[in-house]
Amino acid sequence: MAKTIQAIRGMNDILPSQTPAWQYVEGVIRNTAAAYSYQEIRMPVVESTDLFKRSIGEVTDIVEKEMYTFDDRNGDSLTLRPEGTASCVRAGNEHGLLYNQTQRLWYMGPMFRHERPQKGRYRQFHQFGIEAFGMDGPDIDAEVILLSARLWQAFGIRDQVQLQLNSLASNEARANYRVALRDYLRAHEAQLDEDSKRRLDTNVLRVLDSKSPETQAILVDAPKLSEYWDDESRVHFDGLCQRLDAAGIEYVLNEKLVRGLDYYNRTVFEWVTTELGSQGTVCAGGRYDGLVEQLGGKPTPAVGFAMGIERLVLLLETQGLIPATQSSDLYLIAGNDDAELNVLTVAEQLRDALPTLRVQVHSGSQALKKKLAKADKSDATYALVVMNDNDKLSYQLKHLREREIDYPVTSSLSDVLQQLGTE
Ligand code: ATP
Ligand code: MG
Repeated sequence: MAKTIQAIRGMNDILPSQTPAWQYVEGVIRNTAAAYSYQEIRMPVVESTDLFKRSIGEVTDIVEKEMYTFDDRNGDSLTLRPEGTASCVRAGNEHGLLYNQTQRLWYMGPMFRHERPQKGRYRQFHQFGIEAFGMDGPDIDAEVILLSARLWQAFGIRDQVQLQLNSLASNEARANYRVALRDYLRAHEAQLDEDSKRRLDTNVLRVLDSKSPETQAILVDAPKLSEYWDDESRVHFDGLCQRLDAAGIEYVLNEKLVRGLDYYNRTVFEWVTTELGSQGTVCAGGRYDGLVEQLGGKPTPAVGFAMGIERLVLLLETQGLIPATQSSDLYLIAGNDDAELNVLTVAEQLRDALPTLRVQVHSGSQALKKKLAKADKSDATYALVVMNDNDKLSYQLKHLREREIDYPVTSSLSDVLQQLGTE
């Protein structure tokens, strides 16, 4: 026997038993994005490697060790997108969507990161993302957060997620804070974990979300980012909090929330859950006012988030909120050999008349009893047996489930439609 080939580690099939959950989630997301007048954008999954290096940052986890990068046949360095924001900005600049105008955009699709696969962390995963361009006030930060809150509401998981907020303030304020934090940590360098030691020089803010208890103990007395906030950023943050208060959205201030991507400034936020173990962040985002310019566009304020669909689906599973797989409504059977030639046509007529009816046609010739057993096994609600006697068709509809009715045999398909309609 030939050796079977398996999927790449960390890249999952989404099987027919799981797709109803995904379709449900995607449907609610589409409707919610539309309810806020956001428009969909679809970007390619492969981009120039430079795009991510220049946006996400050279010394971030993603760029340092998580990207799927390869040379195209002509030698260009390409990368499977690890996230959507950089591509969205690239597309916006390239097609003139951003200059001197506002845009409310969303996207959904696969992202790729070479991480250690575990529950809630995969190498191909899916994100739903929102990006709002050209608006600099806290009102749009609030809108983006309200949109995410409406999703939790729609999914029935409002109580399972908590909103954490912080402000990274201006680039200048952050630069001052970096110096202060580095000075403080240098004095305790020996007690820091290895990753944090390395980050002292490269990306000191990331020390704040170190998982090491020793490092966290040292951070207790470290300078706080909010002590370095500039006035404008403080006013912006207050404006956001006021709007969230007015909308009844609860949040907690988490001064250690800094996010792993370099392009954020001012507002950053995460929706976290305790239901998924250590992969608890379901949605993360913030403001990135410098990125459009950094990627060659005109200065354009922007704010957005990305939501991990796998984590969302897992969370719905833990709450028992996943819709069941849908079986066929009607299983169509040729009752005698001559009717074998008619069943496909009859199925088409049924689909014409009842576009939402899920019709499954039995394939292959078998004894009628066996076909009926298959109909039963298919979980379809009805079986319809078609007979052909000297080119005269007749039909018998059977309710296979709790009602177990055999309807009267009829020579007219519209009778069958009526029988179906009386349900
Ligand atoms: P984490 O801290 O979990 O590594 P991150 O900061 O790298 O997350 P972002 O880049 O902000 O995550 O991505 C936004 C969201 O996408 C995350 O909150 C999460 O829900 C999801 N996500 C990120 N990486 C993965 C992954 N490897 N597998 C599944 N979902 C992911
Ligand atoms: Mg990560």
